[in-house]
Amino acid sequence: MGNHSKGHNKPENIKEIQEKFCKNLNFLFTDIDDTITTDGLIDSSAFNAVWKIFKAGIKVVPVTGRPAGWCDHIARMWPVAGVIGENGSFYFSYNHTTKKMKRRYFLSGKERDKNQKKLKAIGERIIREVPGSMIASDQPFRISDLAIDYREDTEPLGKQAVNKICRIMEEEGATYKVSSIHVNCWFGDYDKVACLKQFLKDTTGAEMDTLNERIIFIGDSPNDEPMFKELPYTVAVSNINKFLDDITNLPRYITQNTSGKGFEEMVNIIIGKRNL
Ligand SMILES: [Mg+2]
Repeated sequence: MGNHSKGHNKPENIKEIQEKFCKNLNFLFTDIDDTITTDGLIDSSAFNAVWKIFKAGIKVVPVTGRPAGWCDHIARMWPVAGVIGENGSFYFSYNHTTKKMKRRYFLSGKERDKNQKKLKAIGERIIREVPGSMIASDQPFRISDLAIDYREDTEPLGKQAVNKICRIMEEEGATYKVSSIHVNCWFGDYDKVACLKQFLKDTTGAEMDTLNERIIFIGDSPNDEPMFKELPYTVAVSNINKFLDDITNLPRYITQNTSGKGFEEMVNIIIGKRNL
């Protein structure tokens, strides 16, 4: 049943990926920030790569720390089978035939409201104690988590400041993850992998482990590590190199290019091998 080695010591060049795997591929799970985007923009060629994968019959599912408000748009208007947002707090999936949006949350509305109050207090403490940090501009569109900006709309903060943000979140009893632009935290026993498993179960009826040979994930940073750890087929765009000290479970493959260009590189290799 395939390669279950979890985490990899040294990523291989993506061009080494097997033809058979590419031909059997059903699902591409993908990070968005600095994986599809480049310097905060989605290049036309990167967005076209998403369409190419969709047209090849592979279901695309973005997996992101971005807010519910954005995910509602993505689920409706991108060529995707669904979107996992706020670090796995929920997935949204839009059916264009029935015109129905499915929204599956891990926590009840009541729990989410209660958590929002606690998260607000944590955000206020971080702003007070870590100069230069700010509440992320997309916070009003979030349902379940708190996002602290350390280099999106604020001057980039150093590692020490980022570590301090993480320590405060930890002290307050929240789960946290560092993305390439934000530090996110939340209350609740879920993460991106748990949500990915739920999505697969609900859409295929099968457990993730039985689908390992049909799934690939691509990301770029430490907040993608849960997927690098749990899935046998994972890719990182080469900007992952600057985070290697912070990651224990490396991806299986790496691209030569960074960000959106790296995403396109992977898509072209997979589609090329499917067509052999
Ligand atoms: Mg990212």
